[in-house]
Amino acid sequence: MDTYDYSFKIIVLGDKMVGKSSLIGRLTGNTFNEKTAGTIGFGFHLRDIEIGTKKIKLQLWDTAGEERFMSLTRTYFRDAHGVLFVFDINQPNTFQSVCNTWIREFEEKGSTDASMILIGNKCDLETRTDPSEIELLRDRHLLDYIETSAKDYINVEEALVALVAQCLQKA
Ligand code: GDP
Repeated sequence: MDTYDYSFKIIVLGDKMVGKSSLIGRLTGNTFNEKTAGTIGFGFHLRDIEIGTKKIKLQLWDTAGEERFMSLTRTYFRDAHGVLFVFDINQPNTFQSVCNTWIREFEEKGSTDASMILIGNKCDLETRTDPSEIELLRDRHLLDYIETSAKDYINVEEALVALVAQCLQKA
């Protein structure tokens, strides 16, 4: 695709080791890498997508989930059209981090009309997160919720399409 109807910046927020890089790897055509040892630093990957008749260029940003690092990077949040909030369904503390850190951090530093999706990753593993708590968070922030597995490539593309469709509605 040479020309685009839209260009969106998408960021991925969540604790380290929840699978952010693995999800982005899937979305940008890399294979799943079992040995990834958590992300160091940040950068973005490009991805083209077509939804209906619209051609969209995506910048998919990836970063480490460390607060001391994130506090340095207001620019990471700024101008984001869409956010994927990711937790590991097998690690309830990573869900608590989305509630207590990542959403708050984004609300403070990001755009108020950004589109947001909540992702429970690692759905190939046992769920240990309380569904009623997920429901509460969804209601409070009007979030769509999708369970994915970067490992087994379940719902990964669907989550991105859902987010970009929301971005398009607001564009
Ligand atoms: P990040 O720090 O959030 O970017 O997380 P990574 O993408 O580096 O993944 C952290 C670890 O979780 C790695 O060992 C991955 O292989 C593993 N992982 C990522 N996604 C999945 C998944 O969907 N299922 C399972 N079982 N493991 C995953």
